[in-house]
Amino acid sequence: MLMSGADYRDSLRRYNPRVFVDGRRVESVADEPSLAPGIAAVAVTYDFALMPEHVQVMTARQSTSGATVNRMLHINETSTDLLYKLEAVRLVCRESGCAQRYLSHDALNGIFQATKRTDDAHGTDYHQRFLTYLHRVQDEDLTLGVAMTDAKGDRSRRPGAQDNPDVYVHITERRADGIVIRGTKAIVTGAPYMHEFLVMPCRTMTPEDADFAVCCAVPIDAEGVTIVARPAGRPGEAAAKFSAKYGQSTGVVIFDDVFVPWDSVFLAGEVEEGGFLTTSYATHHRHSCIGARAGFGDLLIGAGAMMIEANGLDIGRHGHIRDAMVELIKIVEGFFACGVAASVYGLKDPAGSIMPDAVFSNIGKLLLATQIYDMHRLAHYVSGGLVVALPGPEEDHNPETQASLAAVLAGRPDIPASQRLEVARLVEDLTASSQGGWYSMISLHGGGSPEAMKREIWRNYPVQDKVEVVERLLDRGVLDEGQRVSKQPGRCCVTGCDVPAPPSAPVPDTME
Ligand SMILES: Cc1cc2nc3c(=O)[nH]c(=O)nc-3n(C[C@H](O)[C@H](O)[C@H](O)COP(=O)(O)OP(=O)(O)OC[C@H]3O[C@@H](n4cnc5c(N)ncnc54)[C@H](O)[C@@H]3O)c2cc1C
Repeated sequence: MLMSGADYRDSLRRYNPRVFVDGRRVESVADEPSLAPGIAAVAVTYDFALMPEHVQVMTARQSTSGATVNRMLHINETSTDLLYKLEAVRLVCRESGCAQRYLSHDALNGIFQATKRTDDAHGTDYHQRFLTYLHRVQDEDLTLGVAMTDAKGDRSRRPGAQDNPDVYVHITERRADGIVIRGTKAIVTGAPYMHEFLVMPCRTMTPEDADFAVCCAVPIDAEGVTIVARPAGRPGEAAAKFSAKYGQSTGVVIFDDVFVPWDSVFLAGEVEEGGFLTTSYATHHRHSCIGARAGFGDLLIGAGAMMIEANGLDIGRHGHIRDAMVELIKIVEGFFACGVAASVYGLKDPAGSIMPDAVFSNIGKLLLATQIYDMHRLAHYVSGGLVVALPGPEEDHNPETQASLAAVLAGRPDIPASQRLEVARLVEDLTASSQGGWYSMISLHGGGSPEAMKREIWRNYPVQDKVEVVERLLDRGVLDEGQRVSKQPGRCCVTGCDVPAPPSAPVPDTME
């Protein structure tokens, strides 16, 4: 059954996780002020699914059960599903900055594919197990945290070669009734206020590292789980109206010999499929990140336009201001278009689901990862220095300063100073505060650092197809009228070229 945001907040009371924030134990996550903005942001995904105007993008029919489920938990089957998911993520992130729950969707879709592939290769029964789990999660309308990024220790060493094996989560014991896992996931979005974690490998593994290729579901309050988190957003800060309402906590999640029954295990040592899970999750997630950051972009475009108006400028008359706004729009809709293309060119998976196109998903995420800094710059450019220089909100109610400040800090006469200041504070909150830095960092590293995207683009891009196009052109004489001699070995004639013999004279070992 679909929950409302209030139901979701209440549902957290059913759990008793071991959570620390800022050095103290949190007794009740649902009532903890420092986590409230994070819970409020996730709650948006619940409330919007119940609104008639959003039902179409925020809910979907799960074909394996026939149930109507929240879009954030749905397994995609068509390009339309992918497009609606993209729109849904943009919608909820436009409202909340980052609604976090799309990570649940991305992991469920990656595991759906990987379990089928593992069963096909190894004769296991992970997929059926996972389907049972999926239907329960959908029926209960849960939110799942993605515990993927390990602490990783020395980045130059593989998991099994670390001095401390606990910097990666791994299986320490295999029992008749389940497995025992141990280790640390370093960055888990919304960790304290999830219902369960989906543990997944964050990299490809070698056969020696088979114990690190583990995927399973763990309730947030399972014995042995500790969450050390930071506050969500800027709770309680008067200058941060937006981030005091909506934010995101991240947590280090420590698994201290946690028992997981087989029902909840979806991969246990199958290294090849572990690698597939990592990359397929990443593709789903990067596709979602595009929607999320487009939602953030909507906020910047709207705030920028309001700031310009409050400053008394007409975008139509001032070319440099219009250029900046057009550049901001170009960036946001440019990477979003990659998400649309990735939906349209989705790839059917043997499991029966659909993957967003990997090249477009990775290009879109790569674009936003670096252009987020330009987005901030452009918002600053059109807004002016007031964004970081204006007096604090306490002055708004100070009888000694309020009237004179209101008189001189207004811009356009028909727009009150209070409105101009409010938009300026929003721009500061989103781009120049600790939260502004946070939005940069999640864009740059969330879903993998840029190098990971570049590798995936290169791995999936059909370069050879393009080579063949050019070769056909050359061979048909379009470019050199048949006089061409190919430089590529084996490509200039049927038998291939003779490779020149190496020089017969001995090559000296040293150059003295
Ligand atoms: C706000 C936020 C929320 C997040 N939420 C989640 C979440 O919910 N779940 C989750 O699992 N993860 C989450 N992540 C983690 C994210 O996926 C990682 O930050 C990302 O994969 C990079 O890993 P890292 O932070 O450990 O950085 P590192 O891996 O240390 O990377 C730092 C730099 O070093 C480079 N580097 C790393 N290793 C090597 C190597 N061996 N050789 C050469 N260069 C290397 C990288 O390319 C990068 O440029 C989140 C991140 C952020 C910022």
